[in-house]
Amino acid sequence: MILKNLVVGPLATNCYIVGSESSKEGMIVDPGDEAEVILRNVKDLGLEIRSIVLTHGHIDHIGALKEVKEATGAEVAIHSDDAQALQEKSVSTLLGLSYSAPLPADRLLKDGDSMDIGDLHFLVLHTPGHSPGCICLLGEGIIFSGDTLFNFGIGRYDLPGGNYSQLMNSIHTRLMTLPDNTTVYPGHGPDTTIGAERSGNPFLQT
Ligand SMILES: [Zn+2]
Ligand SMILES: [Zn+2]
Repeated sequence: MILKNLVVGPLATNCYIVGSESSKEGMIVDPGDEAEVILRNVKDLGLEIRSIVLTHGHIDHIGALKEVKEATGAEVAIHSDDAQALQEKSVSTLLGLSYSAPLPADRLLKDGDSMDIGDLHFLVLHTPGHSPGCICLLGEGIIFSGDTLFNFGIGRYDLPGGNYSQLMNSIHTRLMTLPDNTTVYPGHGPDTTIGAERSGNPFLQT
């Protein structure tokens, strides 16, 4: 598996480029900003991008969506509960950043959906709490956790649509049930493992 992490934008969002070694098909997770950097890396990796998957609809994860979509022609996928972020005509303000909705989604995701990129297979886990339509993508021994779980941290639950008990329930029932050696690639900050978070994340201790 090809996996490239780019840190983009003012909120240091992790954008991931994922690709199949054999078919050279790829997926981009969270094109948050800096479209030209993302597209240059896609080219350098020699990938044909099939899907752009958004872990949720916050501006710091979708900022480069329009340019990346237009350059690659890939389908845009987001959970239905966050799809409104891409459909609003008006300018929204969140996290101190203003933006206008980039473009509508091509595919609305729900829990249990599969995302197949060549020989790579990922499962959509609906993990609401940071936002209503947060998802994690699980497969190939790794999980993209968006803003649900961070290295020794958890996502904010004080933004519009956020909910603390939902967030904790998502983490405990969907993520902490995974094997310890599952590598976690979060929406911000360094990667980690389920085992390291289970034993050391201060927000998960009882
Ligand atoms: Zn967010
Ligand atoms: Zn974020």
